[in-house]
Amino acid sequence: MSQQIVKRRSRGFICVNAHPEGCRRNVERQIAAIDGSSSILPSPGSPEPLVPHNVLVIGASTGYGLASRITAAWGYEARTLGVFFERPPDESKTATAGYYNTLALDAYAKRDGLFAAHLNGDAFSDETKREAIALIRRELAPLDLVIYSLASPKRTDPRNGVVYNSALKPIGEAFSNRTIELDSEKVVDITLPPATDKEIADTVAVMGGEDWRLWMEALADEGLLASGVCTVAYSYIGPAVTWPIYRDGTIGRAKQDLENVAVAIESMLEPKFDGRALVSVNKAVVTQASAAIPVVPLYLSLLSKVMRAKGLEESPIEQMRRLFADHLSKSPPPILETQEGNTRRVRLDDREMRADVQAEVAALWPQVNTENLRAVTDFAGFQREFRNLFGFEVEGVDYDEPVETDLSW
Ligand code: NAD
Repeated sequence: MSQQIVKRRSRGFICVNAHPEGCRRNVERQIAAIDGSSSILPSPGSPEPLVPHNVLVIGASTGYGLASRITAAWGYEARTLGVFFERPPDESKTATAGYYNTLALDAYAKRDGLFAAHLNGDAFSDETKREAIALIRRELAPLDLVIYSLASPKRTDPRNGVVYNSALKPIGEAFSNRTIELDSEKVVDITLPPATDKEIADTVAVMGGEDWRLWMEALADEGLLASGVCTVAYSYIGPAVTWPIYRDGTIGRAKQDLENVAVAIESMLEPKFDGRALVSVNKAVVTQASAAIPVVPLYLSLLSKVMRAKGLEESPIEQMRRLFADHLSKSPPPILETQEGNTRRVRLDDREMRADVQAEVAALWPQVNTENLRAVTDFAGFQREFRNLFGFEVEGVDYDEPVETDLSW
């Protein structure tokens, strides 16, 4: 037992510790947003929703994966297995936020009589896949929904041990734009050099679809998938101002690969299980993964200001409620995009991409400078949301109170 007062510690912008009570409240708030069947009723005109019973979420401890898991469990009483990679506490350090989030989820699941199993390990490894398969066979088979929500800076290839590091860079030519230097809170111009061929290939190896395909093939080979199974991975497109660093950059290549892999997975699932593989294009939100992308923090600070003013802002849990209620239907989903020959995209970014929203963001963009950052954008909100991810600056938490940090499920 080690009760201690936990104050936020940062290295640059990043928090290097986490507050268990703040994390618990974050999870509690998300559960409250979903719990009770009326919150997950489909919007009028939506087809009959898929009601998931047995759900695997890969990347389940923070961000979109955590919100997906909460939606499946508290929205539909699904049995869930969450796979994630988080640091437990030790004598000198608190655990990571995703670890404390999972602890809280575990406690609420027990309270509410929901089955929730957790696997803390490297999802890219064969070992974690084997452990997950054994657990699924025992407790969850057959799976009717598999969510793939990993965001990682690196991946060790299970075949040859090679470590790939992802790079967030433009392709072809250097890209210059303004960005918020998060440590100093200055608005500065940055120039990002173009990625090398190796950096492009490595980013695709980390954030592309290969590992998703390996998971789905392993689950199919082991006979652990239900008839009508659906698998969903998450992507982002965003507005043209971010394309050189996102859609047309290294990460965009990886997302294109993910979409191509969705087609391959579906052709494997369809004949055997009448199953589907979708890519859901989600809204930009503040997570540990998105804050690391250059230019994106400025975009997010402007976007949330504009969307909030219009009453359109959504957090991951609200996005996931919409995904499950309106798009994961028994019949093919209604808002599948058909342009570009791609029939597997669900668009949850429809409100973000509205012409009036993007026009306002684009108009504000060139006005932002260091002096007016907090007036023109919602940088304060961005900063608070970022700290919230680690359990800090969460409403109702007394940060002068000692808390137990050495916890496990
Ligand atoms: P996040 O950083 O909040 O979550 C990442 C999850 O992956 C965590 O649960 C973490 O433990 C897990 N993880 C990382 N490496 C792992 C490993 N080796 N083994 C097992 N688990 C591992 O990220 P997020 O922003 O929620 O991103 C999830 C997905 O959503 C990504 O595909 C991302 O591109 C996509 N997406 C994000 C946004 C956004 O704005 N944040 C928008 C659209 C789509």
